[in-house]
Amino acid sequence: MNLYERMQQELQQLASTGNLRSLPQISHQGMKVTVKGMHMLNLSSNDYLGLACREDFREEFLTSINKDTFQPTSSSSRLLTGNYAAYDRLEKQMADLFETESALIFNSGYHANMGILPAVCNGQTLILADKLVHASLIDGIRLSSAKCIRYRHNNYEQLERLIVEHHSSYEQIIIVTESIFSMDGDKADLNELVRLKKSYLNVLLYVDEAHAFGVRGDKGLGVAEEMNCIQEIDFLVGTFGKALASAGAYIVCKKIVREYLINKMRTLIFTTALPPITLSWTSFLLERLPNLKDERKHLTLISNLLKDALLAKGYSCPTDSHITPMIIGESKVAVLTAELLQRKGFYALPVRPPTVPEGTSRIRFSLTAELSQTDIERLIEVIPTISEVEMLRINS
Ligand SMILES: *Cc1c(COP(=O)(O)O)cnc(C)c1O
Repeated sequence: MNLYERMQQELQQLASTGNLRSLPQISHQGMKVTVKGMHMLNLSSNDYLGLACREDFREEFLTSINKDTFQPTSSSSRLLTGNYAAYDRLEKQMADLFETESALIFNSGYHANMGILPAVCNGQTLILADKLVHASLIDGIRLSSAKCIRYRHNNYEQLERLIVEHHSSYEQIIIVTESIFSMDGDKADLNELVRLKKSYLNVLLYVDEAHAFGVRGDKGLGVAEEMNCIQEIDFLVGTFGKALASAGAYIVCKKIVREYLINKMRTLIFTTALPPITLSWTSFLLERLPNLKDERKHLTLISNLLKDALLAKGYSCPTDSHITPMIIGESKVAVLTAELLQRKGFYALPVRPPTVPEGTSRIRFSLTAELSQTDIERLIEVIPTISEVEMLRINS
């Protein structure tokens, strides 16, 4: 079989199990989207604080730039000529906010996770990673020369056993986790992880706050702020592409980690730096982030409302956050349920393997602070109960 034939066959296989993906044509009107001629409320965006919809912020930002300060490209890697002043400003702002020694900005969360572990690990490193960490972390682990063991999701007893068993055979152990998990919306217990990390001198902690940065903590710095353990986390990483409505990502860390990454991290060194205009927009929003407390409070309120309703309708819903899964099981049924919600005006999307484990396909509601309580109440009215979904399955 040649490559084209194999591709054809694999795509057909994906289609027959309801797992074929395609790029949707989509247009945006604030919180609304139009897809295939249908106007729907967007329940699948990562714009958790609603900042991407805020015209007031955009207008204010635009008054601060002109043709000379609008720099749409950096034209180079940061190590050559791409290190504009906007980088120093943003990194200082981040380090000040987190009260860490330093910060380093990357092109995206994917670049960060794919680059940090390969840079800092060697053959004497053991990575202990939560079973459900994001694909970008998995790719970083694969590219590294470390050995890796995945522990069952949030199972710290197993993690502790692994640390006890292996700490003396490796130079370094790095525990890798997300703080809020992408697909279940549940939380890692960062205080417990810090306790475990401190049990041996050679254990470090890597936490990805992609879904928590902006949303959690009094100033919006993430679960680490909420749990009061920012200083205890060796590699504290997050993205600006979600709640902060910009692009790029960060690590806040010790000075030596920053300096080492600048010398060793391939996804930082061998790529064109982000456009300075993007960094300025990030800085602009970051200045306002600590004050967006009402948005964070409202997001918590509507998230709890939806979670309670899903539980009442018979779904398991493990979330502790604004990421609210409605776990259905079979991919085809998840797709049908999403289509049903879309016909009622809610742009909810199915999430299927390999993004989630086989047999746990789901609708993943990703809420934002721009949604009103009424929006959520209307959504709850049209969400089918689990037995109604079962009827969809039988009739499909
Ligand atoms: C979205 C996400 C990333 C990737 O961040 P980008 O800036 O979008 O590349 C990394 N980790 C997790 C957990 C994510 O959800």
